[in-house]
Amino acid sequence: MKELFSESQADGSGLLDWTDQPDPRQLLRERDPEIYTAIESERQRQTNGIELIASENYVFPEVLAAAGSVLTNKYAEGYPGRRYYGGCQYVDVAERIGIERALALFGAEHANVQPHSGAQANAAVYMALLKPGDTVLAMKLDHGGHLSHGFHLNSSGHYYNFAHYGLDPETEQLDYGVIRQAALELRPKLLLVGASAYPRHFDFQVLRDIADEAGCLLMMDMAHVAGLVAAKLHPDPVPYCDVVTTTTHKTLRGPRGGLILCRKEHARAIDRAVFPGIQGGPLMHIIAAKAVGFKLAQAEAFKRYQQQILDNAQALSNALQAEGLRSVSGGTDNHLLLVDLNSLDNEEINGKLVETALDNASIHCNKNMIPFDTRKAMVTSGIRLGTPAATTRGMKQVQFEQIGRWIASIAHEPKDTALQESVRDEVLEMVKAFPVPA
Ligand SMILES: *Cc1c(COP(=O)(O)O)cnc(C)c1O
Repeated sequence: MKELFSESQADGSGLLDWTDQPDPRQLLRERDPEIYTAIESERQRQTNGIELIASENYVFPEVLAAAGSVLTNKYAEGYPGRRYYGGCQYVDVAERIGIERALALFGAEHANVQPHSGAQANAAVYMALLKPGDTVLAMKLDHGGHLSHGFHLNSSGHYYNFAHYGLDPETEQLDYGVIRQAALELRPKLLLVGASAYPRHFDFQVLRDIADEAGCLLMMDMAHVAGLVAAKLHPDPVPYCDVVTTTTHKTLRGPRGGLILCRKEHARAIDRAVFPGIQGGPLMHIIAAKAVGFKLAQAEAFKRYQQQILDNAQALSNALQAEGLRSVSGGTDNHLLLVDLNSLDNEEINGKLVETALDNASIHCNKNMIPFDTRKAMVTSGIRLGTPAATTRGMKQVQFEQIGRWIASIAHEPKDTALQESVRDEVLEMVKAFPVPA
């Protein structure tokens, strides 16, 4: 039997520790150069540009290590201590720690760390709390909501009866009077708040009062602002909501994934909806990586990081304003801004054009509809800018003031390719001083 195994594998005592094993990246380069090259090119793209996509970030290197670990080999259907497979003693440790840390970080009564993504987390909550055809009141997609909040092509819109509230046309902010009126008229089973492109705070006390008055459950999808909530730099939804969902990879800087926090009374229904309701085996490597992220998010340094995200968003908003580019709602309370390109008073300028022009200058963002946009989703009148990723690299207000001037110059002349090239050279020079943590 012994000859079937190499020396170190046959003899347990000769087994190398993980950190002593050869770097698998070398193997990948040798044996699968096509995929290696795709990964390496993407790594360089992430390094050589300025990332302003509000939903993106660079994970902590420790998170990346856990996500790339042998925990990916393990099947663990079920929950810690109640699995449908043997050999789960170590992944149980990782998941239990993940749950404990999520609870400690957000102060919730129950946490489910298994959702593969934010959309999966939401789908599980709907399955747990609603019956097909039940009414949900949520924010309009084209006012900043998310497609998992009732978009007709998403399963949420397919199975449930979603109604939507929009923003106030004057303030471009939530109008709680309108939400209250809609809730009292429609009597939804669930009032859902949270957004992908909303730069302002939410008043959870007012929302709780509306939910109580209308006799419905209250859910916050804090995917974008979870890092700010963890750092107590955004109003905390947990004490007011029946359920809070989030992604773990945006401001929170963990691996790509989802998380559900809820009150004890919903714990059983939520757990059953995640598994076996909508998922099979959990991604144990990602769950371990989430646990690592939750630990790092409890550190003082993380609070300073989140404060810098906010300071940078203010600096960027002010720099753009100084160059004639208005932010929707007049500014921001969080990590993102929506730039209203109509403020340039040039019919030819739209979100699609400016996104491409900025991409050519290695400044990456996404076109985005603004509230009451007259252009279609594939064109749009706005761009969405977020500060989390570049802040992770150590950029501060001075850099964001410069970024604001670059964006403004390109947005004013989006067809000037020579300008895009010269900005790209300057961008490349600047990012050299801000290495991606690895
Ligand atoms: C990003 C986001 C999600 C979805 O997350 P995925 O992991 O991409 O499924 C859900 N809700 C909101 C508000 C988001 O911004």
